[in-house]
Amino acid sequence: QRAEWNKLRDEHTVSKDGVHVELAANIGTPNDVQGILDNGGEGVGLYRTEFLYMGRDKLPSEEIQFNAYKTVLERMEGKPVVVRTLDIGGDKELPYLDLPKEMNPFLGFRAIRLCLDRTDIFRTQLRALLRASVYGNLRIMFPMIATLDEFRNAKGLLQEEQAKLASEGIEVSDSIQLGIMVEIPSTAIIADQFAKEVDFFSIGTNDLIQYTMAADRMNERVSYLYQPYNPAILRLVKMVIDAAHKEGRWAGMCGEMAGDTTAIPLLLGLGLDEFSMSATSILPARSLISKLSKADMQELAAKALDMQTNDQVIALVNSLDV
Ligand code: PEP
Ligand code: MG
Repeated sequence: QRAEWNKLRDEHTVSKDGVHVELAANIGTPNDVQGILDNGGEGVGLYRTEFLYMGRDKLPSEEIQFNAYKTVLERMEGKPVVVRTLDIGGDKELPYLDLPKEMNPFLGFRAIRLCLDRTDIFRTQLRALLRASVYGNLRIMFPMIATLDEFRNAKGLLQEEQAKLASEGIEVSDSIQLGIMVEIPSTAIIADQFAKEVDFFSIGTNDLIQYTMAADRMNERVSYLYQPYNPAILRLVKMVIDAAHKEGRWAGMCGEMAGDTTAIPLLLGLGLDEFSMSATSILPARSLISKLSKADMQELAAKALDMQTNDQVIALVNSLDV
């Protein structure tokens, strides 16, 4: 099997009936890029920038951030790099920000909510990103977007920083795609409206499942509700992908589900364009997709959407002969 995977390292990802999809990787630091190159990844689908902010005693400077983003962009040599802006809060704390304790951190002041309040922190990151954009193919993504207003406000700040840089004579790429993570049900439900304003979606199933099922992703006692193949989740995923395509946008997924071999046949059938996973899952996923016909997976996905339980969908996928 290893030998078969190795042969696929420099290949595109193509289904048995000739449909191309992208397999990208999730990274946390510039050092993780090597793993993508070694495993034939076609891009970075999620750069979790939190790690730049964690494990230190103050906020990272614009220069520290600029260097990290530039390194990743350069090492990816023009392949797409989706950088997610700061997603702190919830389970990820920053002691030096001295934020009040919350009853429900996962429903609290985190990610874009914090960034739209602490615009000083957000603007520094946006500036570092914009300056780094000329070194590769940068895509910027906002986490935990729940409303159109949040997206518009965040985009407004990005545009302001872009204008400032222009007036300082600092060069910025003019082809930066701007997207959002879809990890809150409200956003999935009005994905048709978001699709008119964003360049892409990346579905964050780790959170989308927790918020849809109202089951804390860290709580073992409710882990039985963590059901990626529950038709409720699959229908939300379908809504997001269809909404993107209707407006000529692309839809990816960067939650754990994207690299899961039970989910991949369903996601291919639902029309997902980009799958972002841990680097070591890329070659097995490419091999699996090469054995699946997208047309057949469309039928499989249609059946799954009409099923009633997570287990029924698992049994359906397991009945596939691959
Ligand atoms: C997600 O929610 O699916 C996701 C990719 O983000 P994180 O796991 O960092 O919350
Ligand atoms: Mg998330």
